[in-house]
Amino acid sequence: MTAKALSPLSPGDTIGILGSGQLGRMLAMAAAQLGLQTHIYCPERGPALDVSAFHTCAGYDDDAALAGFAASVRRVTYEFENVPAHTAEFLAARAPVHPNPRALTTAQDRLHEKTFINSLGIATAPFAPVDGIDDLRAAVARFGLPAILKTRRMGYDGKGQAMIRPGDDLGEVLAQFGGQRAILEGFVPFTREISVIAARGEDGAFAAFDLNENEHANHILSVTRAPADVSPQSAQNAIAMAHRIADALDYVGVLAVEMFLVIDSSGERLIVNEIAPRVHNSGHWTIDGAETSQFEQHIRAIAGWPLGAPTIRGRVEMRNLIGAEVDGWRALLAEPGMHVHLYGKHEAREGRKMGHVTRVWPQAFSGKAP
Ligand code: AMP
Repeated sequence: MTAKALSPLSPGDTIGILGSGQLGRMLAMAAAQLGLQTHIYCPERGPALDVSAFHTCAGYDDDAALAGFAASVRRVTYEFENVPAHTAEFLAARAPVHPNPRALTTAQDRLHEKTFINSLGIATAPFAPVDGIDDLRAAVARFGLPAILKTRRMGYDGKGQAMIRPGDDLGEVLAQFGGQRAILEGFVPFTREISVIAARGEDGAFAAFDLNENEHANHILSVTRAPADVSPQSAQNAIAMAHRIADALDYVGVLAVEMFLVIDSSGERLIVNEIAPRVHNSGHWTIDGAETSQFEQHIRAIAGWPLGAPTIRGRVEMRNLIGAEVDGWRALLAEPGMHVHLYGKHEAREGRKMGHVTRVWPQAFSGKAP
């Protein structure tokens, strides 16, 4: 089914969402705001179920449950990129799946992803496939050290990666990967990590939010600030890259493109790290800090509706509440101007994203007086 042949949804229609985490929850809340219902499909109960009219709890390999789910919704989307290929293909044969399964399979495998990005003339870190020790030795000889070994699939929040430093035993590093196929990436001496959150509609319309500047702690996103501190030219280039990626994938929905900003004697350069084919943690500020949130934008895009204005409302900072940090919720609520979002997770395990807070400093009026 091509996106162009689809008829737009009407208020009251139902959108299916794979995954029951906080992203699914915020998507369901945005859908409700627009008069749409949601049906969450998940193997395990999660916070999205609290805010969705319908749910199916079954495995991603349960074809009978998947068929029933597909029959009950007008569009299918997902909140995580590790949707099994079979599940995406099975559903796509029965209902429109946005973003399409090709976007998913491209983003799921770092080798395919980086090859695809380079094919568009967009720079990534130098990379090479590593299927054994000989590949690793050859890649280290090419890129030098430090370098980063990453599993091709299923890596997130720094999981499935190892930094290799001069003097490290390559055999030992590779043994930690337990035979999983990997890539070696040359180390990028970046100044800042940034991301672009953008949306493409069923009609090909494109809209990007202001660039995000991201800080990580223990490999998990900690703080996002927008707009990012980059030159106007870099901001324009970053958005143009996201646009090219979205067009090339015939993408429908919100996507995130994570990039490194390198500043050296030759100026500013952007290097794409990865694509997330979904709403993204670095776009959470848009709920309070933009005319349209990334969640509403995703729902609009997949419903075949006009995209909303991505205009930022000032200068914005979003902080994740990780693990026990959420225990400070009462004090956060008492802070004027603090927008508190709690995900309704019952157990504040270490490293778990429990909520986030956003502050917006409104832009001073800078236009001409009427
Ligand atoms: P990833 O799982 O690819 O998003 O990587 C997690 C984090 O590791 C990134 O946010 C960077 O801070 C760092 N990192 C990943 N790849 C590279 C690279 N090629 N060079 C330098 N730092 C990297």
